[in-house]
Amino acid sequence: MERLNLRNYTLDELKELIKDLGEPSYRGEQIFHWITCREALTFNEMTNLPKTLRAKLTEKFSLELPQIIEKKTDIDETTKFVLKLKDGEIIETVVIPERDHYTLCVSTQVGCPIGCKFCLTGTMGFKRNLEVYEIIGQVVLGRRYLKEKGAILPLRNIVFMGMGEPLLNLENLIKALKILAHPKGFNYSKKRLTVSTVGIVERMDILAKEFPTALALSLHAPIDEIRQKLIPAAKKYPIKEVISACKRFPRIKHGRITIEYILIKDVNCDLNSASKLAELLKDYPFKVNLIPFNPHPDLPFKRPDEEEIEKFQKYLLSQGILTTIRKSKGLGIQAACGQLRAKHIKKSNPNSMNFKSTVRTGFIIS
Ligand code: SAH
Ligand code: SF4
Repeated sequence: MERLNLRNYTLDELKELIKDLGEPSYRGEQIFHWITCREALTFNEMTNLPKTLRAKLTEKFSLELPQIIEKKTDIDETTKFVLKLKDGEIIETVVIPERDHYTLCVSTQVGCPIGCKFCLTGTMGFKRNLEVYEIIGQVVLGRRYLKEKGAILPLRNIVFMGMGEPLLNLENLIKALKILAHPKGFNYSKKRLTVSTVGIVERMDILAKEFPTALALSLHAPIDEIRQKLIPAAKKYPIKEVISACKRFPRIKHGRITIEYILIKDVNCDLNSASKLAELLKDYPFKVNLIPFNPHPDLPFKRPDEEEIEKFQKYLLSQGILTTIRKSKGLGIQAACGQLRAKHIKKSNPNSMNFKSTVRTGFIIS
């Protein structure tokens, strides 16, 4: 019989499991502490548990993590991990250095069913949702990596901006968020856990009700016609409804909802788009994060030049909209969503996931 992976469980569930073994529930708390903020890899490390219990746990449960098969560090210190899962599938996770902390960018799915035209993950199709332990496992591996290299700054922010659409793996996402935020474990502030979504309205409302954290909306265009060409699945969710869902979403500690906007040459970065975007976002405390398109030979778009990027930002600022430009990190190691994984899939099996056939080239927005 397969051993249950204890990283799949919230503290309450873990306590129940441990109680079923005939152990007092505080043992569940001790184990939870070890496997979260102490980043334990084995039950034997749990020195405050009796040896007999450690042996019993080892026999019944697993603490398995995804396996690191490649690690690449860029000159800016951004480090990308390619992880192999139990069934051989591959995902990515990225450690990003910031001024006074590190941010971890985690994946929630193998591939992504949304199919955004500018995103390498989107062009590769969808395989499956990640289990809770596979999501939490990325955090444990990121923290262990920083500890081992003697990093002084903390891993403080976790952004669900890796591969996949988090809200399409909602049940596991919510469980993972509960584990990450629990004060007896990792104890991440909800403000420092950011879920990024293309705007699946009914699921935004569920997250708002069940476990609201910081929110980022991938908007990428101010009018539906362009947005739906970039994000085919957005046809079901007109911009007006998505923006309303953002406004309904609780603002954790008065934080702002982030609007992510990839700037793509000749598609969405002219001043007319900036003006429409400003109109859409006025009268509510959003913040805009402009992301210059990260090019890749298999993607049919170009990055605008610096002047155009700055003009776009300046216009939004002039309209009173808080706007930042995301610095491109890890360009030298293909750190944009899905790029390193794509390399691995191509290498191991060029036909897997119809890689080539689903890449749409020559995509032009009139
Ligand atoms: N599916 C969710 C979260 C993960 S997508 C979402 O779309 O919001 C990961 C992030 O990478 C998103 O912000 C997306 O806009 C960005 N991204 C994807 N491909 C990119 C590219 N080629 N250049 C720049 N950013 C990209
Ligand atoms: Fe999926 Fe996000 Fe990539 Fe779109 S940008 S395909 S939603 S991972």
